[in-house]
Amino acid sequence: MASRLIGKLVVFAVIIAVAGVAWLALRDTAPPEISLDPAGGAVSSRPIRVMVRDAGSGVRKIVISAAGQGGPVTVFSKDYPAGAKDVKESFTLSQAGLKDGRFSLTVAALDHRAIGENRAEKSFTFTFDTEPPKITVKTIAHNINQGGAGLIVYAVSEDAPKSGVAVGERFFHGYRQASGDYYCLFVFPWDSTLSGYSPRVVADDAAGNSGEAGFGFLPKPKAFKRDTISLSDKFLNEKMPQFQRSFPDVKSPVDLFLKANRDLRRDNAKTLLELGMKTDTKPLWRGSFFRMDGTATMAGFADTRSYMYNGGKIDEQTHLGFDLASSEHAPVPAANDGKVVLAGFFGIYGECVVIDHGLGLQSLYGHLSRIDVKPGDSVKRGQTIGLSGATGMAGGDHLHFGMMLSGWPVNPLEWFDEHWIKDNVTGKMAGI
Ligand SMILES: [Zn+2]
Repeated sequence: MASRLIGKLVVFAVIIAVAGVAWLALRDTAPPEISLDPAGGAVSSRPIRVMVRDAGSGVRKIVISAAGQGGPVTVFSKDYPAGAKDVKESFTLSQAGLKDGRFSLTVAALDHRAIGENRAEKSFTFTFDTEPPKITVKTIAHNINQGGAGLIVYAVSEDAPKSGVAVGERFFHGYRQASGDYYCLFVFPWDSTLSGYSPRVVADDAAGNSGEAGFGFLPKPKAFKRDTISLSDKFLNEKMPQFQRSFPDVKSPVDLFLKANRDLRRDNAKTLLELGMKTDTKPLWRGSFFRMDGTATMAGFADTRSYMYNGGKIDEQTHLGFDLASSEHAPVPAANDGKVVLAGFFGIYGECVVIDHGLGLQSLYGHLSRIDVKPGDSVKRGQTIGLSGATGMAGGDHLHFGMMLSGWPVNPLEWFDEHWIKDNVTGKMAGI
């Protein structure tokens, strides 16, 4: 009896063991999941990413083939040891011998299931495009003052998600108009040398091919003023506490001044670059920019300012706007039609408003004592947006008026001048 019982137990144990092995070998019933980035559209020879995931037994093999006008060519093949559950790879099409036009990529993936491996296959359709966009410049005679702006009109031979004028590290976006042409406002930076200034139009298509075109321009160099500002203890004691919230650990008013004048100024400049992207693709402004009544103070655009304290120079910065002094708490008008993109405390500019006028052109109103608008408001030329004041880095009640292109400061004086605008901007738009 005992031996029969043992015999039964052995048979039972074998059945359990076989079932266990079979379960281990077959339990992974799900094939690998495949995804590509990009998963379609126009591509060139830039790398394409492939992601394969197999949560069960893991990825064993990936094979990718490309088929265009000719038969399929393997562009990627790799084996993986057990345990590779999340595989991310990238590959290029440079060896695929593709011609420009439609083609498909087929990704096949196997997993590690011991018996009867799971296979997944997925196909993706693309357009192979190695042709850079061709740029046709439609405007001529681009005269441009140092620190000032110019407009160029160009056409691009194919859809270009990014195009504009590159000026060294600065980039000025072009905006496509209903006609299909692009308008681009660009600058001759105040801090550029004449020989180092070489703007060019660039356009990137969806596949990442980059086209480039030069254009005729006549840059006029300009010398900017130097100015000295003496900091009194009265000014520092009265004005610096407002920056304490930005630098809670800094104690002395002089150190707070240096922090605000350097770090906060730099932060503000960075924010202006981000705001420069929040722009309308069409011009919102009409005619010249309204200049608030009042006297221009000593401070002009791109003045280099030396800051003196107790007889010594403690800092140097560039004043990138235009200062106008009127009566205290004078109404401040919007310089032109546009949309408010910033309204509130803004570092060295204190209580501040920034208005977008489209095509990357924006105006800034600093040191206000009161703000009457909020972000998103549409404003009209001459409409009161607040009252002048002395908030932020300001010694007395005045308006700091700034203008930016794609966030980079430009000389506001050009935009007060109807003739300059007609000759250099709107006339060029109309002349196409
Ligand atoms: Zn100013």
